[in-house]
Amino acid sequence: MLVFLTNSKNYYEATANDRPGYLSLTGSMTADVCVVGAGFTGLGVALELVLKGFSVVVLEAKTVGFGASGRNGGQIASGYAAGMMDAKQVVGESDVAKLWEFSETAKKILYTRINRFNIKCDLGQGELYAAPKKSHLKWLREEQNFCEETFSYSGYQWIDRDEFRSLVAGERYVGALLDVEGGHLHPLNYTLGLADAAANAGALIFENTAALEIERGAKIGIRTASGHVAVNSLVLAGNAYLQEFKIEPTKHIIPVESSILATEPLGEERAAQIMATKACVADTYFDLDYFKMTPDTRLVYGGQDLSWKKQSLQNNSIRSNMLKTFPMLEDVKIDYMWSGRFAVTSSRLPDVGRIDSNIYYAHGYSGQGVLLSAVVSDILADAIEGEMGRLDVFSRIRNKNLPQSKLVQVPLLRLALLWNKIKDAL
Ligand SMILES: Cc1cc2nc3c(=O)[nH]c(=O)nc-3n(C[C@H](O)[C@H](O)[C@H](O)COP(=O)(O)OP(=O)(O)OC[C@H]3O[C@@H](n4cnc5c(N)ncnc54)[C@H](O)[C@@H]3O)c2cc1C
Repeated sequence: MLVFLTNSKNYYEATANDRPGYLSLTGSMTADVCVVGAGFTGLGVALELVLKGFSVVVLEAKTVGFGASGRNGGQIASGYAAGMMDAKQVVGESDVAKLWEFSETAKKILYTRINRFNIKCDLGQGELYAAPKKSHLKWLREEQNFCEETFSYSGYQWIDRDEFRSLVAGERYVGALLDVEGGHLHPLNYTLGLADAAANAGALIFENTAALEIERGAKIGIRTASGHVAVNSLVLAGNAYLQEFKIEPTKHIIPVESSILATEPLGEERAAQIMATKACVADTYFDLDYFKMTPDTRLVYGGQDLSWKKQSLQNNSIRSNMLKTFPMLEDVKIDYMWSGRFAVTSSRLPDVGRIDSNIYYAHGYSGQGVLLSAVVSDILADAIEGEMGRLDVFSRIRNKNLPQSKLVQVPLLRLALLWNKIKDAL
């Protein structure tokens, strides 16, 4: 753990829809598929599979949405964290077109799920990528041109400095790219909605049930503290949280900590002065800041936090970042602050594939899992049904092995951030 919080209340938990509460597993059972992890990925796969007629058991070590899915910025961004120009460098021309198509399909799946299952999750439209420097604007313009020319994407709109400053208060940013097809949501309520939908369609979800051991073979056994599940296929969807259980499908990911705060309610008038847009914002720094206004007029502001010191609600590095963007919020109280862990890969493209012929995994969305998990869960469900074509596109991505020891990971992450801060400053 890199962050020490003296108060780690989570705004999303405080505003969560009703939780049915799922039992923990006792005894032995059989099913077609077992899914480990009840976040966007695991619940998404479970939902797609039960709709196809498979019997599915979901094991969650804590509670539904305990991992990154219940704690994140909720921002829905087209494409991939790497950016599409960099993605092309990694996978080449043909596969980059397929990856883009997947991310477009992800939007359809995400928005359809929310409508079809009537998931109340504060869905908002639009994401602004804000540039703090002219050189970042140049990159945004190139990325826009690339997506328009290569994929005929029409969802990007250029926002110049004056227009941006009429939408978002402060003088930190010099312009932005608006993704009108992006947006934001209440991530925990979306996760709880996915769980409801999967359970109503027949998936068996068990909370407080960690998968402790896997017996590999044609029939897979998953052992928990008080139970056992025998299945034909297994999906590992524990992402950055899976490593705690010593079941590592690959060494391609490294866990990264991000922290978020939520202010006290600002009131309609002040909220509109701070953000005269319903879109959320993410900036173009490698070590990025991201923020949005909630329906109850709180500013939710997040970013990378590698501080070692103990932090309080009023004295923390995320609040300092927020004040760089919105100095006029100095007097505003912080009501909630929390953190979470997500997984990044060397390419910042997801790591999705198979070990053995019947164990599937998906992780490493590199900060873009709200959207990408939707299509990845669909692709994994297809693969379990025998349709491997789209899974193979992900399997071809060459993600490097990364050090798995915490002793190496922490200084490595600090170095990477420092290096990128220097590049950003230059
Ligand atoms: C602070 C923060 C901000 C972020 N902001 C954004 C954003 O704005 N937009 C975006 O797209 N992405 C964002 N992300 C990333 C996004 O949250 C993740 O990509 C996504 O939630 C991953 O979902 P998942 O289901 O794969 O994993 P998780 O949600 O992490 O779920 C994994 C689950 O598996 C369980 N588990 C692990 N091991 C076991 C085991 N052995 N047995 C049983 N259960 C197990 C865990 O308890 C956990 O609940 C952010 C992440 C964080 C932490």
